[in-house]
Amino acid sequence: MNDAAAPPPPPESPKFTDLGLHPDLLRAVQDMGFERPTPIQAQGIPPVMAGRDVIGCAQTGTGKTAAFVLPILHRLLQGVSRGRVRALVVEPTRELALQSIEELRALGKYVPLKGAAIFGGVPMDPQIRALAQGVDVISATPGRLLDHVYSGRIDFGDLQVLVLDEADRMLDMGFFPDITRIISLLPPKRQNLLYSATMPQPILDLIRGMLRDPLMIQVGQRSAPATGVRQTLYPVPRPRKLDLLTRLLRQDGMDSVLIFTRTKIFADRLTRSLTERGFRVSVMHGDRSQSQRLRALDQFRRGRNSIMVATDIAARGIDIEDISHVVNYDVPHTPENYVHRIGRTARAEATGDAVTLVDASEEPFVTDIERALGRQVPRVTLPDFDYGPADHAGAARHAGRHPGGHPRHGPHGGHGHHAPPRHGGHPQHGPGHPQGGPGGGRRRRRRRRGGGSGQGHAPHGHHGGHGHAPA
Ligand code: AMP
Repeated sequence: MNDAAAPPPPPESPKFTDLGLHPDLLRAVQDMGFERPTPIQAQGIPPVMAGRDVIGCAQTGTGKTAAFVLPILHRLLQGVSRGRVRALVVEPTRELALQSIEELRALGKYVPLKGAAIFGGVPMDPQIRALAQGVDVISATPGRLLDHVYSGRIDFGDLQVLVLDEADRMLDMGFFPDITRIISLLPPKRQNLLYSATMPQPILDLIRGMLRDPLMIQVGQRSAPATGVRQTLYPVPRPRKLDLLTRLLRQDGMDSVLIFTRTKIFADRLTRSLTERGFRVSVMHGDRSQSQRLRALDQFRRGRNSIMVATDIAARGIDIEDISHVVNYDVPHTPENYVHRIGRTARAEATGDAVTLVDASEEPFVTDIERALGRQVPRVTLPDFDYGPADHAGAARHAGRHPGGHPRHGPHGGHGHHAPPRHGGHPQHGPGHPQGGPGGGRRRRRRRRGGGSGQGHAPHGHHGGHGHAPA
């Protein structure tokens, strides 16, 4: 990336109206309730409007979708070939393909430009009809896009802008051969935008081969979670995790909770256990059909179900504004995954809570995470929760096995007999009144940083105490 220009100096908190966007786009921005551009928008919108290639090192949650959607719409408005495919957004998941087109429709509601989402797992016909009517922007996953291209339904002759979104995810998911094929079908003279939270070597190679004099914009540290996320660890023996989770879910304020598990099987088991306990739960993982996923997402989004259980891959595309809590039922095995998971809450400028249940055998992963964060995460124990031996009949049935096999690092042993809480933290996270129950409709609230709620959420738990000095 030697050819990437230095990032511009941080802007003086500009307003959307300072960016030179078309007035009809500004109206839509206002309707969306966006008050100020996020850093990636402030830095990225002007160069994209000017036609430059841009590399955005930014994670989901930074506002990166609008950072490319707005300037692309602005540019396409200047052109004449209406109804011809002039911008292509390639996304790793169906949900992201859908969500970027939804954002495009919302931000483009006052302009005469059309977008279509193209992804697999659903019938071809509606997509064929949409394409036949003429679209200006396509947001697509690679496989289905190629199906349409090879059937002659998409002509890239007028293409001006290519966006590769979440390029590192696409690499992880094995999409690079398809991406290479897609790129070979596009006019060589075009604008390229590439967004990726990390820059592994194959992406650097792609950048070198494809981008012209790119401007590089880095937002936040790669392993830095959004600053609005309050993180807490709950040490708990594995056989007691389900009961502790149930207890936490019954606290007030658990309006919309995304729970991560590592495996699909366990996601299903946990969903059953929580449903048996009276919670309304959606589940999202790779074995669910596209219509099941969309329904799950819809029920969670509308607040009909206050809990979504998901695996990492499935959750990548979830874009929900108001996730109040992310719960890691298992500690993620890499700091990157941890940061990615907890980034699902505190989207854009809101705040959120990330709760991680930690069994003794998972402590080595916590050490890695804390080292990457450069600090220890507060630990909390509930004084009136029974951390005693397993509830083998109930919780253990569902939660007893370590779904991912053995942890990488050895010494902590894999049994669930974590020493019970050795320091009396206070139940905190949200008011600790177990009232309200879980099933209540979600309160639509957007908790802004500095906006009052949850501020001064000092860690009541003990800092560290487990001898994991951050590096
Ligand atoms: P993204 O990183 O593109 O997935 O965006 C995360 C969320 O932030 C989406 O729900 C956007 O609608 C929202 N968002 C994008 N830009 C802004 C902004 N300037 N102010 C407030 N919210 C925003």
